[in-house]
Amino acid sequence: MLASLKRILPLAFCAALHGQILADGHVHITNRVYWEGIDPWKPQPVGQFDYARARAGGVNFVIENVAPYGYNTYNTTVKHAGRLIETFHRTLEAHRDQMELALTSADVRSIVARGKLAVMLSIEAGFDQEGDIDILRLWYRLGVRVIQFSSQATTAYADSSVRGGAKWSGINEKGRRLIAEMNRLGMLIDISHATEAAQRQIVAASRAPVVASHVALRAICSNPSNLSDDVLRALVAKGGMIGIHSAAEQIGQRYYDWSRGKPSIPVNGVTREDILFGEMSLIRSPNRDYGEYIDALDAQQGDRWRRFYSQPWHESSEGEAVVPSIDDWVAHVAHAIAIGGPRSVAIGLDLTNARSTLKNFDASHYPELVEALRKHNLATPEILGENWLRVFDSARVSN
Ligand SMILES: [Zn+2]
Repeated sequence: MLASLKRILPLAFCAALHGQILADGHVHITNRVYWEGIDPWKPQPVGQFDYARARAGGVNFVIENVAPYGYNTYNTTVKHAGRLIETFHRTLEAHRDQMELALTSADVRSIVARGKLAVMLSIEAGFDQEGDIDILRLWYRLGVRVIQFSSQATTAYADSSVRGGAKWSGINEKGRRLIAEMNRLGMLIDISHATEAAQRQIVAASRAPVVASHVALRAICSNPSNLSDDVLRALVAKGGMIGIHSAAEQIGQRYYDWSRGKPSIPVNGVTREDILFGEMSLIRSPNRDYGEYIDALDAQQGDRWRRFYSQPWHESSEGEAVVPSIDDWVAHVAHAIAIGGPRSVAIGLDLTNARSTLKNFDASHYPELVEALRKHNLATPEILGENWLRVFDSARVSN
């Protein structure tokens, strides 16, 4: 019976049937629940990811990244991260029969064995721009087990490769104290979006393995936000691993060459950059502020967000011609293995909205990704998910 099922069902479904892990280590949906009130367990007509489609495609473990995009300054980051975490917990409560919060790799395995989606909680784009160690501890208490160390903008403790420049030539003493505390708590450190100097210093300072949850490799696509082989080697030497991104400009050299310097195509007047950096256009009220600033910021960001997801985004016809394929994505996996071995790499697609990913790809296409890996003899349990679990098991360092 099982043998005949195996022939009929895509490999991803079979993996789920056998309790094997099929993980995407970098997904986002909570921001949409907060701003748009969507149900992430209903397939969405706009945007590339939701739990419904991922689950139907055989995914049984995700790392959900709440992200206070646009809230990049002192005080606003913590406020918005807190609201998103509260939203995530409401989603968990409303869908107890479909998903559960995982705090450890053992939790992931038992949740998957019960037939539900295991979800680990992560913060991208800044846990607190000031780097307050008690805010870090608070997020841990609320279930956060992964933190992307560098933000969308340079913080009081680490440089960002996205915005803000190299203020610290990497990370500073406060950053090192935060890393020590994350090691003590057992919070996994994500080096995505750090400058290369910061990435090297985070890897060196951490006593536990670190990850880059959603990156691609510069040796295959020269986009400077991709990881160098040197940083990959250093990260792997510490026991860490990377998740391979799906963004076309990071996977495909031809797409990256074509897209360089071109402005983003907006949706209903709103670009991805408006969403990520919205706050920069507002000015704080100079004197007493009885909530006017956050009201104005919320109104601006909420309006932009809802417009951004109001209709499907379309690539230009020129861009469409150079969008990379799933096999191009597999080439990054193969290169990571060549440099770091089979324990160095897994899936971290960062599916979102308003940018091209892989040809004709969204969250309903995980089975094709698994099939492409299988074609290259790379659909191993490690790459499909076990590598993620391994790094969680070693994130805590006792003194
Ligand atoms: Zn990111």
